[in-house]
Amino acid sequence: DLLVVGSANADLVIGVERRPAPGETVLGSDLAVHPGGKGANQSLAAARLGARTALLARVGDDDHGRLLLETQRAAGVDTDGVLVGGAPTGVALITVDLSGDNSIVVSPGANGRLTPEDVRAAAPLLAAARVISVQLEIPLDTVAETVRGRGPDTRLVLNPSPPAPLPAEVLAACDPLVVNEHEARYILGEDAGEGPHDWAPALLALGPRSVVITLGAAGALVADSRTGSLDHLISPKVEAVDTTGAGDAFTAALAWRLGRGDDLREAAAFAVRVGAAAVMAQGAQKSFPTLEEVDAL
Ligand code: ADP
Repeated sequence: DLLVVGSANADLVIGVERRPAPGETVLGSDLAVHPGGKGANQSLAAARLGARTALLARVGDDDHGRLLLETQRAAGVDTDGVLVGGAPTGVALITVDLSGDNSIVVSPGANGRLTPEDVRAAAPLLAAARVISVQLEIPLDTVAETVRGRGPDTRLVLNPSPPAPLPAEVLAACDPLVVNEHEARYILGEDAGEGPHDWAPALLALGPRSVVITLGAAGALVADSRTGSLDHLISPKVEAVDTTGAGDAFTAALAWRLGRGDDLREAAAFAVRVGAAAVMAQGAQKSFPTLEEVDAL
């Protein structure tokens, strides 16, 4: 039902008292290795909810690639579309200091080698999907080819993260464009307006059929050009332990429910609960809830 086209990374995390200055060496904690990347996060989040999910991505022929493939398969994701080789698996080198602040260096690796040709070769996978979800941790050409290659009835959900200038063709295909506050400001630039209620119509004016702005603990704002509606979906109040991956869980849940026939408002009302459930535990993929855990909220 859902096809995620995107990145797969190994997150390598070391805790430090403070970050090294140039030329300096500091000692840190034991290394923790976690499967991540926005594409792999989304497909895993959807599968954990019970969605029939496939992932189109590229990993290296290495241990990190095998870790990613294994965790996706264990969650029930169809990994036939995961290509192997061409470069090392993408890596995020993350140091976390005592105050909890992150410094991150990303090596896109194999994610940067997921080509438009790879997307064309996966045409049957694209044609079979009710909804395709994409992000921007893969080349923009590959995103554009995904937009062009989707079936006539396939709905496209795009989370432009990390934010980059988007071609009009890609913007026009989004239904919805899913952004957080930072991404909304980036896309709108100087004349963003006061806040989310101004951003939503301004984003719609750029071409997408619909727009969803996630607002952290405040939930999400949903604007649909078909109905002219603007709705605020409130997030359940939860104790936030770690918000890493909340946006990915939200987008995966939204895309899955749209594919199941929910309207945008219904799908977003479900997605804010999934996002809230995902901040209640440490980690990204580890914190993604099952349907039972969402229902219990
Ligand atoms: P991102 O992770 O991309 O920055 P947000 O922070 O907007 O995205 O979070 C995405 C969704 O996760 C929100 O719409 C909300 O449903 C949920 N969420 C995030 N933070 C919290 C929180 N502190 N309390 C409850 N829900 C949250």
